[in-house]
Formats: sequence, structure tokens, C-alpha cells
Amino acid sequence: MNIDRQKPVLVTGANGYIASWLVKKLLEEGLTVHGTVRDPNNTGKVGHLHKIADKSSGTLKLFAADLLKEGAFDEAIQGCELVFHTASPFVVRGIKDPMAELVEPAKLGTRNVLEAANRCDSVKRIVLTSSVVGIYGDAVDILETSSGVFTEEYWNTTSRVDHQPYNYSKVEAEKVGWDIQKAQDRWDLVVVNPGLVMGPSLTTASNSTSLSTIKELVDGSMRTGVPDLNFALVDVRDVALAHYQAGFTPSASGRHILTSTSTSLMGMVDIIKQQFGKKRFAYPMMIAPKWIVSLMGPSQGVTREFVKKNVGYPLEFDNSYTRKDLDMVFRPIEETISDHLQQMLDDGIVK
Ligand code: NAP
Repeated sequence: MNIDRQKPVLVTGANGYIASWLVKKLLEEGLTVHGTVRDPNNTGKVGHLHKIADKSSGTLKLFAADLLKEGAFDEAIQGCELVFHTASPFVVRGIKDPMAELVEPAKLGTRNVLEAANRCDSVKRIVLTSSVVGIYGDAVDILETSSGVFTEEYWNTTSRVDHQPYNYSKVEAEKVGWDIQKAQDRWDLVVVNPGLVMGPSLTTASNSTSLSTIKELVDGSMRTGVPDLNFALVDVRDVALAHYQAGFTPSASGRHILTSTSTSLMGMVDIIKQQFGKKRFAYPMMIAPKWIVSLMGPSQGVTREFVKKNVGYPLEFDNSYTRKDLDMVFRPIEETISDHLQQMLDDGIVK
């Protein structure tokens, strides 16, 4: 599937943490980007994109579009052969109504964008930002794998709207994507499934959970202890590049695990200590025993079911298909974490 680089490309949720790096790459490649955001006049949210565009050879046009509104993407998609659908809420804490706050925007948004593509003859390829949580629901699911490693073959079958609702929103949205793609044959679908994304942010206005995780490890909010939780990390700059490769590599196909290395929260702290010094921040003092996490969890908005099925389990992914299909080399997480924290210090978000 060859994409004409003279035609505009659509990026939904263009102001997001991940999408901002993708837009930067596309503009630096000289492309015309149609970016959708909820409010193009909100300079706090889109100002950084205009600054990037001013310094690049490409052209940026912003359009207003809400995931929940039918037909909202019809104008922005006009003339595009390639669509990157990244917009979806990535919030895991403080959710009161998971169906309305997570599942509906994820599923309906994917349906709206893909149905806009069905109405627009120019579209040839859609790159959908799913997640590794489209592959697994809880860390304990690793016990069901044949070799103790998650691959693209697996699907999250364990999340529900009342248990791991963000994970549920992502797997359901990805299924919507494949269903709509299979019902036609004009455009193909390439899915990227990133792990926990970290690395410097081009925007300070994102709600992405990526940005709060690293802050909490150093600002004292986890001083008494961290749970033994593992994450598969990946650098935001690599995630943006993988989207780009997924869009412009004619032979790219299927799902793609985007992960570098898995580590625990304490493993991230150890990396920070090595780079910034053992006394520089109010680090967590210990790994909290699982029974304490289970006891205290509900008062912190963490269910006992989550603790039971996630604390203390390893999390391993095989990224070999992605390295081959998208020609990717993933950055070491030491560089990712260090650059991320340095940017938060430079922005005054962490003292
Ligand atoms: P982010 O910065 O919060 O970006 C999310 C984007 O979705 C924002 O542009 C947001 O717009 C938009 N959005 C949310 N609800 C919307 C709605 N109702 N209508 C229109 N736009 C809406 O988060 P991110 O980390 O970059 O995540 C981007 C994508 O990557 C998501 O699909 C997420 O699930 C996926 N992902 C993220 C990670 C990670 O670790 N960060 C890992 C795997 C997959 P506003 O700015 O207006 O809210």
C-alpha cells in the first residue's frame, strides 16, 4: 500500500502526548498534517503544535472533532490517504463512570473515524493506536501463555467495564477497528500496541497517565512504598516513529507490540537513582508487601481484585515481529526515563 506523500495525512487527538511527537515527525518530513483536536482555539493545548509547525517544512491544519460526535471527522479526513487514529482517553485513576469516560469514547471514536474513512474515497490505510492491554488484561494472564511471553497472537479476554476499564476500552476499540476494516477492501488497518509510554513530553497539558507515573516516583507521593507492579516500557519517540513506519511501510500488516524492556516501579526508581543520585528525590523507601497493598488499596481507589491479579507477576513481551515488520530498534529504557525526568525538571513539573 503506497501512500502519496503529497496528500495530507490525518492525525486524531493531534495535541496528545504521543500524537505530538508523531505530528512533529510528519511535519519534519514535509508532510501536510490534518490534526483533529477538541478545540483548535485552546492555545494551552495546541500552542506547541503551531511552534513545531513554524520550524518545520510541513504544513499543519487543525480541525475541531469530538470522538463522540457522529460525522465529526468528515471534514478533516478529506483528501487523506493515510489516517492515524490516536485519540482516546488514557486515564486510569479517578474514573467515576468508566462506560461514559473510557469505553464509549474509545469504541465510538474508533467507529466514527473508521466510518468517516468508509465515506472518503481517498483513504488507503489506517494506523490505529491500540495498546498492550489489547493483548492482556491482568499480569496474571501471563500464566495462560504457552511460553511465559505475550505475543501479538493473544487478546485481552479478562477486562470488564468494572475491572480494568481502560484495558477494556482499548481491547473493545481495537475489535471495532478490525471488524470495520474486514467489512470492506479499500483500506487496510495496521495496529500498534504500545506498552507504558515514557520519555520527554512536547506538551505539559496532556492528561496522559504516562506523565503522572514518573512524577509520583520522585515527588514523595509513594514515599512509604511501591507495589511490586511490572510494566513494559517504551520510549514516546520510538512510539511516534513506529506509527510513522506503520503508515509508510507498504508491506506493514497486523498488530505490533511496541515495548523495549519490562521493569518494576522499583526498577524505574533504581534507574533514576543511578542517573540523578540516591538522595536527589523523595523516592519510595521499599517495595510494599502484597498484603499491605491489598489492605490499603481500596482507600486509594485500587481494588483488591486488581492487586490480586497484578501485583507480583512478571510481564514479558516479544517485540520481534515489530522489529522486523516496522524496522524498529527500541531505545534503552535508561535513556527514556532519564530524558523524561530531565524534561519534567526543565519544565518545573518536578522540583
Ligand atoms: P493523551 O495525551 O491524553 O492523548 C489522548 C488524546 O485523546 C488527546 O488528544 C485527547 O484530547 C484525545 N481525546 C480524549 N477524549 C476525547 C474526545 N472525547 N474527543 C476527542 N478527543 C479526545 O494520551 P496519550 O498517552 O498520548 O495516548 C494516546 C493514545 O495512545 C491513546 O489511544 C492511548 O490509549 C494510547 N496508548 C497510550 C499509552 C501510554 O502509555 N501513554 C500506551 C498505550 C497506548 P484532549 O487533549 O482534548 O483531552
